[in-house]
Amino acid sequence: MDWLVFFRDGVAAWLPLFFAILLVLMVYILWRTLQVMPRVTAAKTITADSSVSWDDVAGLDEAKEELHEVVDFLREPERFGRLGARVPKGILLYGPPGTGKTLLAKAIASEAGAKFYAQSASAFVEMFAGLGAARIRKLFEEARKNAPSIVFIDELDAAGGHRSGHGFTREQDQTLNQLLVELDGFESRDQVIVMGASNRLQDLDAALLRPGRFDRQVLVGPPDLAGREEILGVHTRGKPLGDDVDLKAIARQTAGLTGAELENIANEAAIFAGRAGQQQLRQVDFDDAMERVVAGLQQRKVVTEKERRILAYHEAGHAVMSHLTGDLLPVHKVTIVSRGQALGYTLNMPNEERYLHTAEEFEDLLKVYLAGRAAEQIVFGRVTNGAANDLEKATEVARAMVFDYGMSEASASRTMRADNYALSEETKAMRDHEQARLTDEAFAEAQRLLRKHRSLLDRVAQALLEKETLDKDELGALLEGVEAESHSSETVGTVRAVAAD
Ligand code: ADP
Ligand code: MG
Ligand code: ZN
Repeated sequence: MDWLVFFRDGVAAWLPLFFAILLVLMVYILWRTLQVMPRVTAAKTITADSSVSWDDVAGLDEAKEELHEVVDFLREPERFGRLGARVPKGILLYGPPGTGKTLLAKAIASEAGAKFYAQSASAFVEMFAGLGAARIRKLFEEARKNAPSIVFIDELDAAGGHRSGHGFTREQDQTLNQLLVELDGFESRDQVIVMGASNRLQDLDAALLRPGRFDRQVLVGPPDLAGREEILGVHTRGKPLGDDVDLKAIARQTAGLTGAELENIANEAAIFAGRAGQQQLRQVDFDDAMERVVAGLQQRKVVTEKERRILAYHEAGHAVMSHLTGDLLPVHKVTIVSRGQALGYTLNMPNEERYLHTAEEFEDLLKVYLAGRAAEQIVFGRVTNGAANDLEKATEVARAMVFDYGMSEASASRTMRADNYALSEETKAMRDHEQARLTDEAFAEAQRLLRKHRSLLDRVAQALLEKETLDKDELGALLEGVEAESHSSETVGTVRAVAAD
């Protein structure tokens, strides 16, 4: 038979068979891919013996101190085992991107001589059904086999965001569940530490943060002035610097920037110098680099000098007022380094847990909340939107005083919530007037006190401008010798009854 004839007549008969073979082939290839993929990808994630050293991590003293015991545990587990100590197995590093979370995890691994297994959670959830979970299982299996090791899971929120809120897919649920299974199946003698990284703590599923899982949370925040100088030091280590280069000055001009952005500046400066054929990096190279890096940022992050001054006085206002009101809310730390949404913050922690608070204490609380704005008003003669959150809290306290606690001159014997009782229009007007009076008077009193102690306010603000962060002791040294002006703390338990007369 002629081949041409064979084809012409035979094609119709061959076609179904041809397609059948093609189909079988395709199914086989797909099956192989699914089989092989977890193995291949898990193997790719291993970065054994990372080269990052502990000294490469700059300006994260608190986090490093807190994490040093992890290094010790991986190095000498017997020491902890003998004492029956329970070492955390899940540690969550949280903070904005580029602040050094990955760097820190790598440094811990290399410092402890442990293997480093890194994987981004977003890679797990992008895969076919069931694969993310399989890959997690594989990852942990490997890590256990090669212990001591660190499993680093980046972008944890990709797998462990709130399950309800964002319309989670089944794949994400499976991945998260597998992760939980692995965490729960851990023995502390395993010598495997799991570190997760996330930009936002509040976006994580509560199941992940439960005891025995990621129950140790460490903030890796943007660096303060000293931290920025240290980071610049790390990233200019191998670079020849001219005499005119002033790292401290560069640090001062880069408030708000992260370690990654500072590294970028050092790198750009070297590029500028190289392009000009110089032997060394000069200050102008850094100036140009700063300009370029800052211009390239998507959001404006750098805090201007003027803003720094306003922030410093605002936070100093809170801190000084807290002291003047007898440390009802003692200040543990005050900083003008921006963290997340809030630009600056004054961290207060109650001295003791109490259920009863006097009206005087609430009035003091109002003064502390409003002191940030009061300081701005006194020093700059104008106010900013930076106090929005403070005002909200103050308004809430004043409302509760009048509406719920009977702490107004309007009435000491009844609540004034309109939803419970039919209040007359007159009573409502009086009530609202009382609430406004409480905050207004507290604001006026805060201004009076800060004016009176203006030199103290200046001192604290100046220290904040210089150091950006003051801890309890540093603040205490500045406030030393200044007496509190309020005695609310002596009246504990005697809730003031305010008569209407
Ligand atoms: P994150 O994981 O928090 O997003 P990375 O650890 O990936 O940040 O940081 C990216 C790079 O920026 C690091 O490799 C390092 O070069 C630099 N960097 C960030 N933070 C620091 C820091 N605290 N000290 C030194 N370098 C830092
Ligand atoms: Mg990272
Ligand atoms: Zn404030």
